[in-house]
Amino acid sequence: MKEDGALGRDQLRKQAYPRSLSAYQREQEVVPGGSMRAASWFQPHPPYAARGEGCWVVDLDGRRLLDCANNFFSLIHGHAYEPVLDAVRTAMTLGTAFGMPTESEIILAETLAARTPRMEQTRFCNSGTEAVLAAIKGARGLTGRQRIAKFEGCYHGAYDWIEVSLDSNPGNWDDADGNPASVRCNAGTPDSVLQETVVLPYDDPQRCAEILKREGPTLAAVILDPHASRAGTVPMSRETAAVVQEACRRHGILLIADEVISYRLSYEGASPLFGLEPDLITTAKIIGGGLPIGAVSGLREHMAVFDHSKGKPRVSMGGTFSANPLSMAAGLVSLQHYSRDQVARLNQLGDKLRADLRAGFAKTGVAATVTGMGSLFRLHLGHETVTGYRSSYPTPDKARQIREIQLAMVQENVLLTPNCSGALSTPMGVKEVEQIAQTLVAVVAQVTGASS
Ligand code: PMP
Repeated sequence: MKEDGALGRDQLRKQAYPRSLSAYQREQEVVPGGSMRAASWFQPHPPYAARGEGCWVVDLDGRRLLDCANNFFSLIHGHAYEPVLDAVRTAMTLGTAFGMPTESEIILAETLAARTPRMEQTRFCNSGTEAVLAAIKGARGLTGRQRIAKFEGCYHGAYDWIEVSLDSNPGNWDDADGNPASVRCNAGTPDSVLQETVVLPYDDPQRCAEILKREGPTLAAVILDPHASRAGTVPMSRETAAVVQEACRRHGILLIADEVISYRLSYEGASPLFGLEPDLITTAKIIGGGLPIGAVSGLREHMAVFDHSKGKPRVSMGGTFSANPLSMAAGLVSLQHYSRDQVARLNQLGDKLRADLRAGFAKTGVAATVTGMGSLFRLHLGHETVTGYRSSYPTPDKARQIREIQLAMVQENVLLTPNCSGALSTPMGVKEVEQIAQTLVAVVAQVTGASS
């Protein structure tokens, strides 16, 4: 779509959504950037949420949006899910936080262990970031090594080492040997952090094997998300997963599977789908039922690194609101209701969505593809096959069109994330999936100028 078209829409938004606009203007005075998260901001201003019901979110101006962002994929049962609300209400009346353990933390840890045998033991915290940083500290404590390896472009939260090469670009992503370079993401990240972080290519098992052969003996951990959203939202190949698993075994490296998003892919989580046997698993999002949560889980022998019961632990892990009873109660209900049947149903709906989108793009002659697995999906512009970070990296023109598509989707009452990815939630059915597919095909055709 032409630039003047986009401007026209922006002006329309300003006229049509005065409450969100005025909230944004107020927020700009007291919050840098005018919103708390870059990820939930977009031009000219984000819609402000007033309330949610099921798979719908209602904004301050009364618009009902079909929510495929689900608070960044954390609301597997959608908004204000009555069983979660009931559990939280009950827990609240007993008190919101204690400087003592509660039985609720045992029950949620037992629930994870029952679903996922490698989650023998768990420590809870309040976010995926915290879980990942604790897992890395745990791996360092267990191995006595300091360096880690991560995959290029992959997001694991806001922690210096795991933010390395999060947004490397074609101008800086190769080192002198043609391997992925360790690139600073934030201004001021120390050089030592770059030296301590080895970067692996998501879709090149041969090169991964070479890098891990060379760097393996110095590594405490390799962290991977086998269905990484920033690496194109494509499943990691079995080959790459096997290369990492084998290198970890050979060199005594801890394998950390970051399943903060991908845990939803099966009843047991993501790793078994890829033949992975991680030493530590990090989860968050859906295991908290919509309340703040994070968790590090693993086999007893590895989790012992956090054991404080015999004196100072090798690695300490705690926090004022860790394992708070509200998150525990919400998480328990969320997992109980994400049964094998529900996992299968949601994954089938995801398959249908991707099939409908592919058919729609083909029919309208739109140069676009959709990636994803289970209930997760992401739009890419162009016909190229997406296999990882580099092949999903958009040209400036495509990046602009993706932003336009996200905005146009909101105009059509469907909320996607800024990179046009989304997640299904259990209140959705065939009707909603068809609405998402039809709207997205029409919007992509409009924005890219293809005929419909
Ligand atoms: N790991 C992955 C794979 C994630 O996608 C995210 C957040 N989207 C995180 C870690 C960090 O989780 P949180 O935002 O809860 O800190």
